[in-house]
Amino acid sequence: MRIAVIGRGLIGSAAARHLAEAGHEVVLIGPGEPADYATHSGVFGSHYDEGRITRGLDRMPFWSAVSRASIARYRALEAATQVPFYSEVGTLMAGPEGTAGVSDVGDVAQQSGITCERFDRASLAARFPFFDFPSDTIGYFEAQNAGYISPRNLVRAQGIAVEAAGGQIVDAEVTGFEEIASGVTIDVAGDRFKADRVLIAAGGFTNGLLGDALPLKVYARTVALFEIDTAEATRLAAQPSLIYLGPNGEDPYLLPPIRYPDGRTYLKLGGDVVDRDLTTQEARQNWFRAGGSVEVGVMLTDHIRARMPELEIRSTHIRPCVTTYTPTDLPIIDLLSGRVAVAVGGNGKGAKNSDELGRLGAEAVLGDVRPDLALAASMVA
Ligand SMILES: Cc1cc2nc3c(=O)[nH]c(=O)nc-3n(C[C@H](O)[C@H](O)[C@H](O)COP(=O)(O)OP(=O)(O)OC[C@H]3O[C@@H](n4cnc5c(N)ncnc54)[C@H](O)[C@@H]3O)c2cc1C
Repeated sequence: MRIAVIGRGLIGSAAARHLAEAGHEVVLIGPGEPADYATHSGVFGSHYDEGRITRGLDRMPFWSAVSRASIARYRALEAATQVPFYSEVGTLMAGPEGTAGVSDVGDVAQQSGITCERFDRASLAARFPFFDFPSDTIGYFEAQNAGYISPRNLVRAQGIAVEAAGGQIVDAEVTGFEEIASGVTIDVAGDRFKADRVLIAAGGFTNGLLGDALPLKVYARTVALFEIDTAEATRLAAQPSLIYLGPNGEDPYLLPPIRYPDGRTYLKLGGDVVDRDLTTQEARQNWFRAGGSVEVGVMLTDHIRARMPELEIRSTHIRPCVTTYTPTDLPIIDLLSGRVAVAVGGNGKGAKNSDELGRLGAEAVLGDVRPDLALAASMVA
C-alpha cells in the first residue's frame, strides 16, 4: 500500500519509519526547520531544540507506557542510523509531599514497576547539591532509562531509517489534500502526490489542513536558555533532568547543561503558567515569528534563581514553541475516513514517546485504532 505521511516532525517521522519497515511504500512530506523564524512564511514545528526530557515516570499510566516502549527502542535506532540522540542522565520528579502531582508519580512508579529512588528533602540536598528545594519537597529519581533526547537528532535518525527502509522524503509544505475514488491527492508547492492512504501528523498546525475539525488547543510556550561557561558545565556534570510538580498544577521543567549547535552550553527551563490559546494558523505563525514572551522569560529567570541560587549565568535567551492539547490529555490517533488518519496531541509531552505514538499512528492508518485514542473519545471528554 502507498501511504503518505504529512508532517516530518517527531510523530510523523516515527510513523513513516514503522510503515516503511513494515514493507509499505511510504512518502514522508514536510518542511525542515526554518532558517529565520522572523521572516518565515510557512508552518513551524515543536521539535526545534536540543533537549526534551525523557522518563518512564508520569502521572498518567498511558504516557508512562508509551514512553517506556519508545525508550526501549532508542539505542537500536541510534545504532542503526549512527545518529546519537539520547543522553541517559536520569530524571528527577519532585514536589511538595502529600500533593497530587508527586503522589501520582509515586503510585505509577509502584504500579508499573519502574525502578526509581525516593528522596526526602535532606537526602535530595545531599544527592543533588546544585538544586535548592522548599523544605516539604520529596522526589523520585529515575536514574536509568531516563534523561533527555535531542528532538532534532531524533527526527534526523527517523528520516535516515525511513530512507534505509525504502521510503521517500519530500522537503515541502502540504497546501491541501483531496480524497478521490482511487485514493488521496496531496498538493505541495508545484507538485502533486497520490497515495492510497494518508496519515496527518502536523503537530500544532494539523487543524490548518483539516478545517479546524479536531478539538485541539494550541498553546503559546516560551522557554529560557541560560548560557553557562565550561567551569559551570563541569560543576553541573551530574545534573539530571528535573520536573518540579508544584502544588497548583504548575510543572516547571529544567534540562541539564547541553551543548547547542552554536557551540555554547545552556540549561533550558520551561513552564508557562498561563495557557494562551493560539486559535488560528496565522496566530501560531505570528507567535513563532515574534520569538516568545519576554514576561515569561523574566518569570523563568526568577524561577531558576530560586531553584539554583549558585548558578553563574553568562547570558539569557528566550525561544518560542507551541504545545498541542486534546480534551482527554491523550493523543488523537484515529482514521477520520476510510483513507485519512491523524496522529496528533503531544499534550506537552509527546517527544520522548513519539516513536510509540508514531507506531500507533501507523497502525491507525492501516485500520487498527485504539478506542481510547479515537476522536470520539475526545469529543465526549
Ligand atoms: C517548549 C517545549 C518543551 C517541551 N518539552 C518536552 C519534554 O521535555 N519532553 C517531551 O516528551 N515533550 C516535550 N515537549 C512536547 C513535544 O515537543 C511535542 O509533543 C512533540 O514535538 C509533538 O510532536 P508532533 O510530531 O506532533 O509535532 P512536531 O514535532 O511539531 O511535528 C509536526 C511537523 O509537522 C509539520 N507540518 C505542519 N504543517 C504541515 C503541512 N501543512 N505540511 C507538511 N508538514 C507540516 C511541521 O513542519 C512539523 O515538522 C515540549 C514542547 C515544547 C513546545
